[in-house]
Amino acid sequence: MSSFTNRTALLNGIAASSGIAMAKAYRLVEPDLSFEKKMIEDIEKEIQRFQSAIRNAKKELEQIRDGAKNELGDDKAAIFEAHLLILSDPDLLDQIGDNIKTTKINAESALHSIAGRFITLFEQMDNEYMKERAADIRDVRKRVLSHLLGVKNVNPSMIMEEVIIVAEDLTPSDTAQLNRTFVKGFTTDIGGRTSHSAIVARSMEIPAVVGTKTATEEISNGDFVIVDGLKGEVFINPSQEIVTQYKKNQADFETQKEAWIKLVNEKTVTTDGHYVELAANIGTPKDLDRAIRNGSEAIGLYRTEFLYMDKEQLPSEEEQYQAYKEVLEGKNGKTVVVRTLDIGGDKELPYLNLPKEMNPFLGFRAIRLCLEEQGMYRTQLRALLRASTAGNLKIMFPMIATLDEFRQAKAVLEEEKKKLVSEGISVSDSIEVGIMVEIPSTAILADQFAKEVDFFSIGTNDLIQYTMAADRMNERVSYLYQPYNPAILRLIKMVIDAAHRERKWVGMCGEMAGDETAIPLLLGLGLDELSMSATSILKARSQILRLSKKEMEGLVEKALQMSTTSDVMAAVAEVTNK
Ligand code: PEP
Ligand code: MG
Repeated sequence: MSSFTNRTALLNGIAASSGIAMAKAYRLVEPDLSFEKKMIEDIEKEIQRFQSAIRNAKKELEQIRDGAKNELGDDKAAIFEAHLLILSDPDLLDQIGDNIKTTKINAESALHSIAGRFITLFEQMDNEYMKERAADIRDVRKRVLSHLLGVKNVNPSMIMEEVIIVAEDLTPSDTAQLNRTFVKGFTTDIGGRTSHSAIVARSMEIPAVVGTKTATEEISNGDFVIVDGLKGEVFINPSQEIVTQYKKNQADFETQKEAWIKLVNEKTVTTDGHYVELAANIGTPKDLDRAIRNGSEAIGLYRTEFLYMDKEQLPSEEEQYQAYKEVLEGKNGKTVVVRTLDIGGDKELPYLNLPKEMNPFLGFRAIRLCLEEQGMYRTQLRALLRASTAGNLKIMFPMIATLDEFRQAKAVLEEEKKKLVSEGISVSDSIEVGIMVEIPSTAILADQFAKEVDFFSIGTNDLIQYTMAADRMNERVSYLYQPYNPAILRLIKMVIDAAHRERKWVGMCGEMAGDETAIPLLLGLGLDELSMSATSILKARSQILRLSKKEMEGLVEKALQMSTTSDVMAAVAEVTNK
């Protein structure tokens, strides 16, 4: 950190999501709402404690509702009205009271389990509107719990003005729930460019700087903050001069985006006539619209785990079927690569109650978990297979480390396919089945895998963290996230060459695919498809339209013989700035 004058400072972090945002800081410190399940002696006292928490939560909500009405109008205030109605619902309140009386458990536990039943009930309803009510009950439960525990409830839904969120960390689902109307940007102490909260921020077009190490220490509520998601800088209470400069940078960025938008329907072809497919990475069907508006030709990675996160229980087969069908239909016959559940690492499913692990990124996760918990895996496969007739589906398995894993995963898929066909349900007969190449053993053995898979997609976010032994979530080792390191380039080359020898296509869906410095190298290496955050597509297209494949092949030949990342970066700069 370098200081200017009093309380004016500049923090350096990792540019996680492009764009520039400026607003007042809003510190989001997650309250600790943990509690123990306890048996109580005095039932009457416990019921009174519960009723008093309900009264206080109501008062708080009335204040928020009135504030929302004044600031934002009746429309936005309606959500708090709905929360107040939940707090007056005799069914819910009586059941919680009865539960305290009959089981003699503390109010926190009764609230958690009875409200949990209501949440599950609503989530299972067919009607979308009713399903969304589950989220409202979850919010209300949190609010009442905070009053029972006497903990201040900081809730992003209370934000009624434009802000920059300042947090130690944000989970991917926290990020997905940020309200775009008010949250202009965010900055966090920890995290890296490939942590999933950064990935979600990019898909929502929220400028973000992560891994600043000290943002929560340095920034107070109400400080004026500029987040520069292009350079990875955060200004705290900057001078008027800097504000003026950054307003100009912001306007320039918008102008640049308008120029790129003209390329939305263009094919991505190099100056010497080589075509590359540009695809989008999505996390939910809601991302589809942005993917289409940004000129994606295909969906190169649908991260299905977001369907499973922020829920109380596993999504049903029907719920998944609807989501997959929506994406396949939305893409209108174009390729949609759906990745089977890749839970683990920074993507947790609390309701699975898996034991805590020392090294979650190296643990019992993704395909390892699916092959063990086959019920969950088979439900997902059935939903996918049923949806397969709605478009051009390709299925991809994550975290494959051995050929045995791939064979097992595929065998289960074949079994489910047979079952469905015997039940008279139609399934597409042209579904390609491929794998993510994100574990070094698989990259090294790509020649063997290539004989059995239909395609590869290189997951550099993990491939780099495993090759360099550097946790992608840890900002202290983020200097080891080195996509242009010759070691990484050689691994990528092995995978591409192996695939092409077997006439299989190979793409990349890690963040490297949308990286301006990496793109010339990936073109030279011969990737067939690049799949990236939707907001990177048009920029990548405008860059590729100016490059020659032949020249990039020459660049790669030299880069593969270099010894450091900085040598490679210099070589890329030399060729592309000519
Ligand atoms: C990757 O590892 O590169 C990848 C695309 O998957 P995820 O970021 O979801 O781990
Ligand atoms: Mg991965």
